[in-house]
Amino acid sequence: MKFQTLPWHHSTLLEQLRDAQRLPHALLLRGASGIGKTRYAQALAASLLCETPLDNGLACGRCLSCGWVAADTHPDLRQLTRLVDDDGKQANEIKIDQVRALAEFLGVGSHRGGRRLVLIDPADAMNHVTANALLKTLEEPGNGLFFILVANRPDALAATIRSRCQSRLLESPSPGIAADWIKVETSCATGEAQAWLAMAGGSPLQAIRFAEPAQASAHRTMLEAIARLPDTSSVATADALQPFEGRQWLPLMQRWLLDLARCRMGGSPRYFPAQTARLIELSARTDPQRLADAGRDLAAQYRSVGHPLNPRLFCEESLAAYLGAFGRVERPRSVV
Ligand SMILES: [Zn+2]
Repeated sequence: MKFQTLPWHHSTLLEQLRDAQRLPHALLLRGASGIGKTRYAQALAASLLCETPLDNGLACGRCLSCGWVAADTHPDLRQLTRLVDDDGKQANEIKIDQVRALAEFLGVGSHRGGRRLVLIDPADAMNHVTANALLKTLEEPGNGLFFILVANRPDALAATIRSRCQSRLLESPSPGIAADWIKVETSCATGEAQAWLAMAGGSPLQAIRFAEPAQASAHRTMLEAIARLPDTSSVATADALQPFEGRQWLPLMQRWLLDLARCRMGGSPRYFPAQTARLIELSARTDPQRLADAGRDLAAQYRSVGHPLNPRLFCEESLAAYLGAFGRVERPRSVV
């Protein structure tokens, strides 16, 4: 676990720690995706558990508790997150068994005589049944027991859970502050940092993943394949996208399409400002209705992006959906 929140949340964390005695028993941290909510929750948890915190309330990083937190072995801390299986695939949901397994932890007192914390991240990955299993504990938290929930989409969280939490919005950094941070983290130039940030829709954490050399080259390849449509065949494009997962190229295709729609309406691109000329030229060859239809079809495709029955067919279907924006309607028939 990390001890430091991202710089743009530092003062919020200090403010929250000043008021630590009045911490709600269930805190819901919400905010845009990829702005550092997990880092904030972890830094807050480490500080609340630290046995010799600094004057400003932050974790010392040196005591026994901090050592356990760093090693993810603190006996008074439980983290619930989506599990990763042996093949490296992350589950879509937090499973009910994970919530049930909390019972033992909740049944005993604090090992260190201080607070006990349960961190649930992302809390919106709990389905209804799982959320219900958690509900009773949230209603009657034991003494010194605190829940910290993190959610990108609090609306997807059961209303019964939401209503039992005190919610706190974590702000997104301004593009300038985010780009400066990306520059430092990745040692790239300002223009490049801005381009990655735009492509990541303003999410600095996603931007630094994009900027990793292997990812950066993959993204250039995928984007180039998508941007050549409809002037290249969908077979050639599917070949070019073959080495990559739908999770990688489909969001890119959706963002490219959104930028086409913005340009078609006379606006400027949000995700690919460096490609403005190309986007304007392409957008003149479609119309808003077709772009909207293609966007809806790609969103439908996205629902099965994590588990396509046949990756090649999934790719061809997605390309057909995208090409619908340009009036090409050669749709492969699904074999499902
Ligand atoms: Zn400490």
